[in-house]
Amino acid sequence: MTNQNLSQRDHAVLWHPCTQMKDHELQPVIPIRRGQGVWLEDFDGKRYLDAVSSWWVNLFGHANPYINAALKNQLEKLEHVLLAGFTHEPAVCLAERLIALAPPGLSRCFFADNGSSAVEVALKMSFHYWRNCGQTGKTRFVTLENSYHGETLGALAVGDVALYKSTYAPLLMQAIIAPSPDCHHREPGESWADYSIRRFAGMERILSEHAGEVCAVIVEPLVQCAGSMRMYDPVYLTRLREACDRYGVHLIADEIAVGFGRTGTMFACEQAGITPDFLCLSKGITGGYLPLSAVLTGETVYQAFYADYATQKAFLHSHSYTGNALACTAGLATLDLFGKDDVLNRNRELSRLMGEAAAHFADHPHVAEVRQTGMILAIEMVKNKQTREPFDWRERRGLTVYRHGLERGVLLRPLGNVVYFMPPYVITPEEIDFMAKVAWEGVDLAIQN
Ligand SMILES: *Cc1c(COP(=O)(O)O)cnc(C)c1O
Repeated sequence: MTNQNLSQRDHAVLWHPCTQMKDHELQPVIPIRRGQGVWLEDFDGKRYLDAVSSWWVNLFGHANPYINAALKNQLEKLEHVLLAGFTHEPAVCLAERLIALAPPGLSRCFFADNGSSAVEVALKMSFHYWRNCGQTGKTRFVTLENSYHGETLGALAVGDVALYKSTYAPLLMQAIIAPSPDCHHREPGESWADYSIRRFAGMERILSEHAGEVCAVIVEPLVQCAGSMRMYDPVYLTRLREACDRYGVHLIADEIAVGFGRTGTMFACEQAGITPDFLCLSKGITGGYLPLSAVLTGETVYQAFYADYATQKAFLHSHSYTGNALACTAGLATLDLFGKDDVLNRNRELSRLMGEAAAHFADHPHVAEVRQTGMILAIEMVKNKQTREPFDWRERRGLTVYRHGLERGVLLRPLGNVVYFMPPYVITPEEIDFMAKVAWEGVDLAIQN
């Protein structure tokens, strides 16, 4: 088996996610034979440092021995059982441990099997809660400009990344879009906190006008990942929590990308000292092994559904692989690793090193900003550093960085003109330097002509 052989067979039968398949006429897909730590190896023996954690899911490296052992052990006992009417030890343990770790007040765990589904669950639960309480006028959702919550129709409707959304607009419910606190747009000299507070005025206005018809506000706490890794200050979330309470509107925290230590704390909401009404988790939840998601909520929501069957208040939502036993086992092993290896403290040092390794990008003549929140660092390439005029998206400058990275053995996958690092937590200081060096070369190549 070689790269060429497998990529040709692939091109004959597969349709890849988030891909213009014609691009692969020029650049074939890369078949991966094995993974080890932060490294992926293809069928020709070439290695790639996985700087994007395989789409933000991997936390403790590929083929992690501890997670592997836990899965092998569970595989001998039970692979899966339906979660309606039945349960199993990994689901119970994982729900207990997630609740213990999550912000206080979240006491119920509803499992689904991917991030978008978790968002659908949270949206439906919020709407259904108000309905069960007799508030049938609440049918809408508020979201932030430039937000991303997944690809299924409900999740897409509460997102705001035009690239993924605009084609399907005729199919989508109408969300109310509030100005984003994205601090990339702050004035020179303005702090993240000041800008985030200033931008909150727009949210306040929307809530004061629409609270009666709004079920929930949905946000990605601290980092809008798919929206080019744009970041904002925790104070925005503190204000938002307070306003949602004041206006009688739920707060949905989509921590699918930022949960499990990415922003420096276990959950991003902790930095604002808030508890959302719904907390959506996925991606890192299994350490990047298996699809799983969870929606955590509190007792008030739970009790609004808890009634005699004939009242028809139950939440009759399900996915076939909900709470899969192998996935929950991977989740438990992942949480074990956080405890065993003092991960959040060690990540503080890794974050610092990442910041150091990327600091000089700020002086690059085509970089407008280097921004960082915990284990996420982003570099914004622009056409004009002074005016911040972006490169035309058709020029696909990020693709040059991507190709250069692959040539040199680093999997960087820029979002448009934004190059970012979001590596597994097992990356070493030397690997951080290598990743930054290759990214620098890539940016230098990408900005030419
Ligand atoms: C990836 C992502 C989702 C969607 O998760 P999938 O598992 O890809 O459906 C939702 N919200 C955020 C913030 C994400 O980053």
